[in-house]
Amino acid sequence: MGKQEEGFAGLLLYCRAGFEGDLTAELTDRAAAAGLGGFARVQAGAGFVLFEPADGRVAALESVLALEHLVFARQVFPALPALAGLDRSDRLTPIIGQVVAAGWQVESIWHETPDTNDGKALRRLIRALERPLAAVLKRQGVLRAAAHGQRLHVFWCAGDRVQLGLSRPGRRSEWPGGILHLRSPREAPSRSTLKLEEAWHTFIPREAWDERLAQGMQAVDLGAAPGGWTWQLVRRGMYVHAVDNGPMDARLMATTQVEHHREDAFTWEPPSPVRWLVCDIVDKPARVAARMADWLEAGWCREAIFNLKLPMKSRWQTVRQCLGHIEDRLQAAGIGYRLRARQLYHDREEITVHVVRD
Ligand code: SAM
Repeated sequence: MGKQEEGFAGLLLYCRAGFEGDLTAELTDRAAAAGLGGFARVQAGAGFVLFEPADGRVAALESVLALEHLVFARQVFPALPALAGLDRSDRLTPIIGQVVAAGWQVESIWHETPDTNDGKALRRLIRALERPLAAVLKRQGVLRAAAHGQRLHVFWCAGDRVQLGLSRPGRRSEWPGGILHLRSPREAPSRSTLKLEEAWHTFIPREAWDERLAQGMQAVDLGAAPGGWTWQLVRRGMYVHAVDNGPMDARLMATTQVEHHREDAFTWEPPSPVRWLVCDIVDKPARVAARMADWLEAGWCREAIFNLKLPMKSRWQTVRQCLGHIEDRLQAAGIGYRLRARQLYHDREEITVHVVRD
């Protein structure tokens, strides 16, 4: 463990408020699979979890709990013990003291809060403290132009409670709070359109968009109506089979890039293989996962993005079973693939899964 890792209390992870238990179940499971123990400090509805290693080795936990593999986390980085009971008249001195004692050097400072109403109420306080803290840390040599891309996270859990963390490039989300804010396009037939756009930003590197989300590609949208996801595919210049018994948006149909099939999405088969399958059907997650596995196994699509709705209690267990089913099927068929899943910012009681066949 390097000098910089000394003193960490655990990993700080951000999540959607109300999903702290699901994130904790996931972390505990994944750590155990790597032979590590952990203990979560959780408050229901808080929008974050502090996961502490049973043996004090934060670096070991960090290496097995990479953000890329986590479903319910939006952000993760090692953090120092929380500073509680900050004095209203001088909140900065203890913060500066802890950063300097840790010996950190950083290129940027991000003040963040939980994604909750209480968190939003702290924005004014943060605006008042941002500049003075940066000025002092610059003078102290903590904030500098070159520091391996390291970032100081000042996570305000309350007006008198803050937790400091250090993140490195490649291991963290580059979006403040781990949230990608997207503007809802006015012409799109539904707000759900943002889920597919966010999924692309999350799972497909920007430099690969022209190759993998290319004009002229064929796509299938299962459970497409009224057409928010189809609209995204059409915007990329694709031709879309939209499968849904419900009506599709008239303007979208007028593009002539969409063929509407009023059929059951669980039995409909494509006339020929397509590049993309997307699916936003509200149904049992195991049923959707099994159908997605059919498509990927048969080679009817090369890439798939789909939602699994999770109205049940033990969400992590359901996710594990559904993803396990898909992986088992592809492995048994000898098909190479990459699979990732994430509860996106625009996902409510659901997660989004991306699978690409090699
Ligand atoms: N992604 C869409 C958008 O952005 O506009 C919204 C999809 S909506 C959440 C789910 C859709 O799935 C509904 O339009 C419903 O009619 C459709 N659906 C549900 N079960 C289906 C089935 N078995 N076959 C075809 N469509 C189905």
